[in-house]
Amino acid sequence: AEPDPDLRPGERDENDRALRPQMLDEFIGQAEARANLKVFIASARARGEAMDHTLFHGPPGLGKTTLAQIMARELGVGFRMTSGPVLAKAGDLAAILSNLEARDVLFIDEIHRLNPAVEEVLYPALEDFELDLVIGEGPAARTLRIELQPFTLVGATTRMGLLTTPLRDRFGIPTRLQFYTVDELHEIVSRNARKMGAPAEDAGALEIARRARGTPRIAGRLLRRVVDFAVVEGDGRITRDLADNALTRLGVDHLGLDGADRRYLRLIAESYGGGPVGIETLSAALSESRDALEEVIEPYLLQQGLIQRTPRGRMLAAAAWRHLGLEAPRGQNDLF
Ligand code: ADP
Repeated sequence: AEPDPDLRPGERDENDRALRPQMLDEFIGQAEARANLKVFIASARARGEAMDHTLFHGPPGLGKTTLAQIMARELGVGFRMTSGPVLAKAGDLAAILSNLEARDVLFIDEIHRLNPAVEEVLYPALEDFELDLVIGEGPAARTLRIELQPFTLVGATTRMGLLTTPLRDRFGIPTRLQFYTVDELHEIVSRNARKMGAPAEDAGALEIARRARGTPRIAGRLLRRVVDFAVVEGDGRITRDLADNALTRLGVDHLGLDGADRRYLRLIAESYGGGPVGIETLSAALSESRDALEEVIEPYLLQQGLIQRTPRGRMLAAAAWRHLGLEAPRGQNDLF
């Protein structure tokens, strides 16, 4: 696929295509979403109709793009991919839509970043499979209506809250993706190691899974780095010790937190006495965009119970103080 804009700086998926699950049955985890999609796909196939528009939301790297590709493959239709920021003008989207074949899947990543003028074009396309194009300007302007083939829009977003209500309402199948369990990631890492021809002991694969932040993309990246260490500094085998050593050297701690996560927690602990502190303040102090904090860093820290969001800002939970090896200020722990 294309480079992911939502990765942390300097990180890309390498050799990604070979590792991506191709069909629904190979896709590990997200049991509920998978079971529902299976029904909707089978029904669309049986009726010979385009599947209903589907929205995947959740943190980066959980499999939104992968599921969209799988849907097209299971439906036996074509797949087109673009993203919100890439569609600058209404005409860009119109060109893509008018080229779709019947029942194709159109995937729009980062759909919360669509320009409003482009979004306007999307509404009648989603509802009635029609395009209303305005030709010319001023009093001479005319509207031209173009019929489209029925298609399935699959949208992906890391920020459900930033979608406009009319856009959100046009998705018949909104699906939230969850962080993966360690067991699920363990299976993913073991399978990917096999696909890469890298011998991984069970305990080695488990160590990588535990430290992958609940995210298959991170599991894939950590596996590739551990393989590098195994090949160059070991005998090629991924053992628990080798994985532990490599991950520690990569700055990934036992909870799977990396340098950026720890900087975030440390800042709240050391400069704000554990909080509450506002997101804008954190963003300025860390020189990270507010979006990056809210989309990439915070979801996992929240899920792990390391921080809490309160109306007055972010606060460290007792577990975060323990993880940092710091003493919580008196009275703090009573809150949690
Ligand atoms: P998103 O679109 O949500 O950011 P992707 O679909 O691009 O995430 O997935 C990121 C990476 O993780 C890809 O390399 C993909 O192959 C892998 N991946 C995602 N979900 C799974 C899964 N359930 N099993 C195995 N690999 C997965």
